Amino acid sequence: MNDEGIIECLCDLSYGLYVVTSRLDDKLNGQIANTVIQVTAEPPRIAVSISKDNLTHEYISRSGVFGVSILEESTPMKFVGLFGFKSGRDVDKLSQTVYQTGETGCPLVTENVLSVMDARVIDQTDVGTHTIFVGEVVSGEILKKGRPLTYAYYHETKKGKTAKNAPTYRTPAPTSAVQTSAPERRPGTMVKYECDVCGYVYDPGEGDPENGVSPGTPFEEVPDDWVCPVCGASKDQFSPQS
Ligand code: FE
Repeated sequence: MNDEGIIECLCDLSYGLYVVTSRLDDKLNGQIANTVIQVTAEPPRIAVSISKDNLTHEYISRSGVFGVSILEESTPMKFVGLFGFKSGRDVDKLSQTVYQTGETGCPLVTENVLSVMDARVIDQTDVGTHTIFVGEVVSGEILKKGRPLTYAYYHETKKGKTAKNAPTYRTPAPTSAVQTSAPERRPGTMVKYECDVCGYVYDPGEGDPENGVSPGTPFEEVPDDWVCPVCGASKDQFSPQS
């Protein structure tokens, strides 16, 4: 089987979406992860694969503890953008949400979350770009009943994209000049633009009033210093939707 065939097979694997958190002394951070799995029942143990580039990796490696919050299906893209497309080196993410403190001292995010747990690392494996941390769950709490956000729902219904540091990230195929040029516009229509980083779609009809862009503003007239309201990408990281 060639590489492309292998990638297609891997796309059939299913996942959820979670916020994985950790701490280092009094510093807190968290990130979105799709790879949280239960690996044993007695005792309850879970594993998570985290990119070595991420701040959360540094915190888990040094503190030996991590928290997991299971996101609900209705989680807004803006929340995913904060935890999944921004770095804790640039933004204090936990100051922008609600959390409780677990037995390990990890922050456990409770916003848009069905249940939380925290774990102590008992083993870890270096798998190249990522480390798999195996943790024994020391506490857990159900916050509410609901439908968990799956990776498939995130991609298919929310039109979310995969962050570059995710274990499932695929390098996009190079696009031709024809595909990247603006589509032909019919008079009186306004083209929607999509963020190449997170998948947010700018709809000129709706604008972005929260950030000072009135409904009815064509993308071309959006101020140059405007950024994606979900992930913070700059305007030049948007492509017209065909
Ligand atoms: Fe974005």
